[in-house]
Amino acid sequence: MDAEAGSDARAPVRMEDIVSLCARRGFVFQSGEIYGGINGFWDYGPLGVELKNNLKAFWWQRVVRERGDVVGLDSAIITHPRTWEASGHVEHFTDPMVDCRACKRRFRADQLADAGPCPAREGTSEHDLTPPRQFNLMLRTQIGASEDASATAWLRAETCGSIFTDFRRLREVARQKVPFGIAQIGKAFRNEINPRNFTFRSREFEQAELEFFCHPDATGEWFERWRDERVRFHRDLGFGDDVLRVRPHDEKELAHYCRNAVDLEFRFPFGWQEIEGIHDRGTWDLERHGEYSGKDLSVTDEETKERFVPAVVETSVGMDRTALALLCNGYAEETLEGGETRTVLRLAPVVAPIKAAVLPLSKKLAEPAQRLAAELRRHWNVFYDESGNIGRRYRRQDEVGTPFCVTWDFDSESDQQVTVRERDGMTQERIPASRLAEWLRERLDGSTGHSTTRD
Ligand code: ATP
Repeated sequence: MDAEAGSDARAPVRMEDIVSLCARRGFVFQSGEIYGGINGFWDYGPLGVELKNNLKAFWWQRVVRERGDVVGLDSAIITHPRTWEASGHVEHFTDPMVDCRACKRRFRADQLADAGPCPAREGTSEHDLTPPRQFNLMLRTQIGASEDASATAWLRAETCGSIFTDFRRLREVARQKVPFGIAQIGKAFRNEINPRNFTFRSREFEQAELEFFCHPDATGEWFERWRDERVRFHRDLGFGDDVLRVRPHDEKELAHYCRNAVDLEFRFPFGWQEIEGIHDRGTWDLERHGEYSGKDLSVTDEETKERFVPAVVETSVGMDRTALALLCNGYAEETLEGGETRTVLRLAPVVAPIKAAVLPLSKKLAEPAQRLAAELRRHWNVFYDESGNIGRRYRRQDEVGTPFCVTWDFDSESDQQVTVRERDGMTQERIPASRLAEWLRERLDGSTGHSTTRD
């Protein structure tokens, strides 16, 4: 087997390399490609769906399963339209939009720095802009056969709406007392004026949200706890200080009901951008839904007998943005000893789409190697590959972030041992085939990333 050695120098990542890897290996590509694509919509291929499912499972494990005080929900995407009136989305969920009279392109008024020159104006490169108008980002649809206004509904712009409308029932059925949380992962839709930066700003995307209900006097403490907990989550995905930061909102940015907020920002190739928002929302949500539904959403403290409307600390993270951050953080092109280059995706094992690849050294060894792969598939997503020389097969796995390659060679027949090669250090170890599953389990299950540092 090839001995490999690499240098650790990591060049800055370019977006075009990430987009190209994603298309080439089928992680993510444009939706409706054969018709020319549809702006702001993306399809996740075999590796992408594994990556995103692993990320969602890891979030669910941390936020719901490992705790006694958070329960889960999977609510309808279309909910009662009053939900969005109560939350203020129908009236206020808008971005300022301007049009260029010359080239007919449309921009967000607060993102004009990125608009570039106008291709349709001779003598000046500036756009001929209309005054800003407010544009509602909610995607509208019709329910039922009639098209009158009563049948208008909205695709949710964030997943949390139903958490508030279901609060009363969930508290009862889950037999939870405040403080406790409700979590949900699901699709959200926003008619973004300018979808861009690959999947970063899409029109259909997935959010993982937690609404944590507590006494209004306790939000400060819960806000800090959840902020720290969420930072820990991202650190465990491998995001070091150099790529992840906590940015507190200043007064002007805060919604009128919001008492405190921070963004967790990732350093993408196109700059520092939000991947998660953490907000102290006070009692706004349950008060508004109580008012619009006419239902009492307050609770009683059993000890003090105080009756109060619970306040909310929210954590809201985009799964697509975090998946993109994982790809950007993991991606590296390395020059190996001897001048050969490799592309490697250093993903934390917990999110890696393929956990191990089984590679027979020769096609003649296919049968025992396939048996080994079938055995490992009972536990993990395992890939079997017998085509091409072993070095090329390693490269194919490095590029998609597979932490371990297991090679069955001619000696394996007699000594019943396999060679396991590790992705990052490219070190190799000889292990009895009978111990392989246990060996992998020790290194894969629950295995998070070590924050890597990029220059
Ligand atoms: P931005 O300012 O970037 O538009 P936001 O502040 O409106 O984001 P939130 O409403 O706080 O975002 O949503 C929570 C999370 O949902 C964001 O941190 C992000 O990860 C994700 N998200 C929001 N809008 C989009 C989008 N258009 N495409 C992909 N993910 C998104």
